[in-house]
Amino acid sequence: MSTLDILSADERFVVETVRDFVNEEVKPVVRELDHADTYPEALIEQMKRLGIYGLAIPEEYGGNAVSMPCYVLVTEELARGWMSLAGAMGGHTVVAKLLLHFGTEEQKRRYLPKMATGEIRATMALTEPGGGSDLQAMRTTARKDGDGYLVNGSKTWITNSRRSRLIALLCKTDPDATPAHRGISILLVEHGPGLTVSRDLPKLGYKGVESCELAFDDYRAPADALLGGVEGKGFGQMMKGLETGRLQVAARALGVGRAALEDALAYAQEREAFGKPIWEHQSVGNYLADMATSLTAARQLTLYAASEAEAGRRVDMEAGMAKLFASETAMQIALNAVRIHGGYGYSSEFDVERYFRDAPLMIVGEGTNEIQRNVIASQLVKRGGLDA
Ligand SMILES: Cc1cc2nc3c(=O)[nH]c(=O)nc-3n(C[C@H](O)[C@H](O)[C@H](O)COP(=O)(O)OP(=O)(O)OC[C@H]3O[C@@H](n4cnc5c(N)ncnc54)[C@H](O)[C@@H]3O)c2cc1C
Repeated sequence: MSTLDILSADERFVVETVRDFVNEEVKPVVRELDHADTYPEALIEQMKRLGIYGLAIPEEYGGNAVSMPCYVLVTEELARGWMSLAGAMGGHTVVAKLLLHFGTEEQKRRYLPKMATGEIRATMALTEPGGGSDLQAMRTTARKDGDGYLVNGSKTWITNSRRSRLIALLCKTDPDATPAHRGISILLVEHGPGLTVSRDLPKLGYKGVESCELAFDDYRAPADALLGGVEGKGFGQMMKGLETGRLQVAARALGVGRAALEDALAYAQEREAFGKPIWEHQSVGNYLADMATSLTAARQLTLYAASEAEAGRRVDMEAGMAKLFASETAMQIALNAVRIHGGYGYSSEFDVERYFRDAPLMIVGEGTNEIQRNVIASQLVKRGGLDA
């Protein structure tokens, strides 16, 4: 049985189309783009044409929404080609979900049709220079001013924010609220006077897609920029959005892990040592067996969380487990792929060094794995165990 058998024929076609795109268009150019740290304009244009930016947006808003398991498998395919491509549509999907779940009808109509085609791309801005894990301690404020808000503060590590026209900004509309989360809101922000993309951050991997610092200096947002039109709901709204974000990051990890396994499996059959293909040396065969086993477990965990999300259930714990396990698995697989490639694993003429640089992001991003463990533990207690 293939993994794709869980999908309808239409959804299988979507995943297979993206798989072909990756094999034919991405794989041949990815090494060069990654090493030159070049924004993949042409590939992003093709992704728009394939409808990838509309995969979370229903038809009535111009998209072609697929189920969460299908979305996860599409993301895995993209990340198998290049994690940066999957990253470029991750935050976009979270913002689409935020609009769908919490936006006013006017906000949905304003943004979703253009987001579905990729004409408007979106990102989310949570993390600040002072910290990303402790979001309630954030310092960015949006104070009521006339019939809108005056925004001041700074955000950091915001993916694709130079090119995203829409930024879902987490900020404090009531900095004195207790508990602090009651004073947090989401503003739908666009580039304009008072918002500066102040720096592109240099990084280990995740090349080609910009990660930036944003400075808000008396930036004016209209009143109708407030997501859902109600203040003080932003923290809960973003936590819901992050359930999708964490599934997406888990799927990115699956893609990187699968690429590393595929390359290592091929190399282990070609490369000979002591008169036989290296996979026949038990140590190398064991690596491959462990890599395939853990990747399969990670994929099943991720698909389980995705199907729970599809059923409309709360999946903070399940998505957290998937993100935690899949990202640690991808890191281990990438390391073992380096081992199997011997000296060539350290060479920039092979792809495994890229997997090794890209894998750690999934450990840190969308809430670190330490934070995932906190979420899982508190949900275990709150729900009265795993099977309660
Ligand atoms: C390439 C890249 C892209 C990113 N894209 C975005 C984006 O688009 N939007 C966005 O908002 N953010 C983005 N981020 C930021 C990312 O989400 C944060 O880096 C992450 O949440 C951690 O925050 P921090 O870096 O401030 O670490 P800190 O919060 O300072 O944490 C430092 C360490 O302390 C640990 N720690 C902190 N609190 C606890 C606790 N309660 N229990 C246990 N351990 C704890 C952490 O796990 C970590 O190991 C991106 C990051 C990177 C690297």
